[in-house]
Amino acid sequence: MAETHGLIVIHTGPGKGKTTAALGTGLRAVGAGLRVLVLQFIKGSWHYGELDSIASFGDRFQIRQLGRGFVKIGAEKPDPEDVRMVEAGWAEAVREMESGVWDLVILDEINYAISYHMLDAAVVAEYLKRKPEGLHVILTGRNAHPALVELADTVTEMREVKHAYQKGILAQRGIEY
Ligand code: ATP
Ligand code: MG
Repeated sequence: MAETHGLIVIHTGPGKGKTTAALGTGLRAVGAGLRVLVLQFIKGSWHYGELDSIASFGDRFQIRQLGRGFVKIGAEKPDPEDVRMVEAGWAEAVREMESGVWDLVILDEINYAISYHMLDAAVVAEYLKRKPEGLHVILTGRNAHPALVELADTVTEMREVKHAYQKGILAQRGIEY
């Protein structure tokens, strides 16, 4: 069997599809026999459909929310409680990536946490350089840090052509959350 080359993959950009493409990869991976963990930074207030669908897969596909919902944007400094949750989330992410339990770990919205200065890009980059060799990692969220883009093997930028939201159509259950 070919040696597993653990990839670092980034989904970034302003268009829709970053998280859902990562979840789609998770779906593909679990079907291929890989063990998949999704850690959602920031998220915690909305009840996303994937929480229930992934629960039906059992131990081989798991998802956890590590935040409490949207952080205030434009705030001068992030709320210390949000920073504390991101720091605890990163410690959990490292523990899980080191555990040997998972073949694919999805760090959903981690780019967002980094771009709002709640997590240091250099710390994430240093860890990813010495992550377990066979482990695949997907990082999602707008404004991916250049140091992480450089380090990654595959980077996709979602471009917004248009979005229903601009016509005043509110987020639709099952499509947006
Ligand atoms: P999705 O979760 O649908 O794959 P995403 O991960 O690319 O979207 P995020 O930046 O994480 O997008 O946005 C979170 C929420 O905002 C989701 O409910 C998403 O569907 C919605 N969304 C994504 N892009 C846009 C956009 N350009 N305008 C308005 N809402 C958006
Ligand atoms: Mg997302």
